[in-house]
Amino acid sequence: MIRYEPVIGLEVHAQIHTASKMFCGCPVVADTGDVPSNTAVCPVCTGMPGTLPVVNRRAVELTLLTCLALDCEVPPTARFARKSYFYPDLPKGYQISQHALPFGRDGFLEIETAAGPKRIRINNVHLEEDAGKLYHGAGGSRVDLNRAGVPLIEIVTEPDLRSVEEVRAYAAALHAVLVYLGVNGGEMERGVMRFEASVSVRPAGSDALNPRHEIKNLNSFRALADAVAYEIAAQVETLTHGGAVAQQTVGWDEARGVTYVQRSKEYAEDYRYFPEPDLPPVDVDRAWVAALRAQLPELPAARRERFTSDYGLSGYDAALLTADRAVADYYEAVVSAGGAPKAAANWITGELFRLMKETGQTIQTVHVSPQALAELIQLVETDVITLGSGKTVLAEMFAAGGSARQIVAARGLAQISDTNALEQVIARIVEENPEEVRQYLEGKEQILSWLMGQVMRATHGKANPQVVQRLLHVQLEARRQ
Ligand code: ADP
Ligand code: MG
Ligand code: ZN
Repeated sequence: MIRYEPVIGLEVHAQIHTASKMFCGCPVVADTGDVPSNTAVCPVCTGMPGTLPVVNRRAVELTLLTCLALDCEVPPTARFARKSYFYPDLPKGYQISQHALPFGRDGFLEIETAAGPKRIRINNVHLEEDAGKLYHGAGGSRVDLNRAGVPLIEIVTEPDLRSVEEVRAYAAALHAVLVYLGVNGGEMERGVMRFEASVSVRPAGSDALNPRHEIKNLNSFRALADAVAYEIAAQVETLTHGGAVAQQTVGWDEARGVTYVQRSKEYAEDYRYFPEPDLPPVDVDRAWVAALRAQLPELPAARRERFTSDYGLSGYDAALLTADRAVADYYEAVVSAGGAPKAAANWITGELFRLMKETGQTIQTVHVSPQALAELIQLVETDVITLGSGKTVLAEMFAAGGSARQIVAARGLAQISDTNALEQVIARIVEENPEEVRQYLEGKEQILSWLMGQVMRATHGKANPQVVQRLLHVQLEARRQ
């Protein structure tokens, strides 16, 4: 039986959250329904005859930063092009995009795979405008043009991805890069990043590029992974039964978990691309590119490396902490406020993430300041409070803010390490449980942890466990005649 290998290429659309749209002065507003339909619009972005586009310089800069972050070549001249098609969300009848002269080409993004790091080649990075949004309801369909003209970066890979895991890793890595660059805030639920996946399969070891299905409009990581997995399985099934895969554009039916044919694949010729006559070519000045290169922030991969080498974190923890720029900033603020690096990583990826998940909060909305967490970590590391009390303190800070010391004082959580006080409690426990003590002395060692439990209970969990164990051992041994 033939074994098949998937061949996948991704086209990713990322909205750029500039203050104004790509070619007019209208504001870029979130797609959340808070802004009434068709209010962030003007004659330019509604495609009125006689209007002229003006290029948003910041959108070009963010596109160039993306090109540089993805190691693209940035040619000295870029050009906008008209892509003509008809759809009700596109009043001009064409989209201003780029074709022959994009801002960037021939780059790559490195991803982590089970077999080690792998470079996914980027064919090109170009800038275009978003279309409007259609709402289909019982009484007909409505068009909202608030989104029309919002700048979009399209990042096109070569067909280098070979599995659903690689697709996931690439999408996550690209998402992190875009958020680090400040292209947008990364809120997937607002449709700021959308995917199209081209999928074909071939006998393993062959280098053929077979006809593919292009899956349109995937708006979440989940939909992307599920749709690609479905297509791979369906195509292998077709070929195994002697069928053929035709080049097609398909949609993803999320509810049923299947793709469906939209149309036979369109080709570049169908769009009648030609240079946009209303806009001159963009002179991508070398000094400008150099200045932008100097502005590039530390990118996720570099930051992950630094977290492992500077803070001694595992690759896994470093990846968890750097996936989101705001989380990585928070982590570093905790460390510079005096939180021990490894303990800080454990508290954030463990308790803090758990509380955030439970309450649907993000690092931006969390009440626990980095200073407060650093203080809490110090209290635990220096044995002022137990790990268990630390969790209680964090939960309280998370719910209501405040400083760790205040909460420890108010709740009387400070650990009892005072030997005199503990000796008395232990003597009482030993006195009250003669049967257990006898069993222990006869060799039933596990009784020791039961007795420790009694002491912890009597001290409401505030006794220092190491001290209790030591003192208990001394008092029990003293009874051995
Ligand atoms: P088009 O011009 O038709 O959009 P492109 O050459 O731009 O085609 O490719 C679109 C996407 O499809 C790219 O991400 C590319 O890597 C991917 N792709 C091209 N050929 C194949 C193939 N045979 N199997 C899977 N993906 C492919
Ligand atoms: Mg294409
Ligand atoms: Zn406008």
